[in-house]
Amino acid sequence: MFCPACGVSVAAGVALCPACGAAMRAPSYRAPQIDAGGKAIASLVLGILGLVVWILPIIGLPVTIIGVVQGAKALHSRQRGMAIAGLILSVIGLVAAAINAAIGAYLGVTGQHSLGQ
Ligand SMILES: [Zn+2]
Repeated sequence: MFCPACGVSVAAGVALCPACGAAMRAPSYRAPQIDAGGKAIASLVLGILGLVVWILPIIGLPVTIIGVVQGAKALHSRQRGMAIAGLILSVIGLVAAAINAAIGAYLGVTGQHSLGQ
């Protein structure tokens, strides 16, 4: 089966999409309250993950951007506290990854320049 939100292929019986955290709409499994809560959990997990993977901007940027989006979507859910924590962690990771990417690009450009001449 496929995630209704992002279209990723997900194993049958899985309640939440591992890619975006959206609730899977399995015919035999109904859990309407998990929908926004899943986004909050996804945001928190991605935020924590973002604090580790920001060192690699190629991974850190998408992970933290998704974390920010999921956290923002879950802000009005029952898991508001978890969503806020995930949102803050994701923003920190996103800023760190962005700065790291900028520094990497700067060093790449200047290093290439000095090495070339
Ligand atoms: Zn998904």
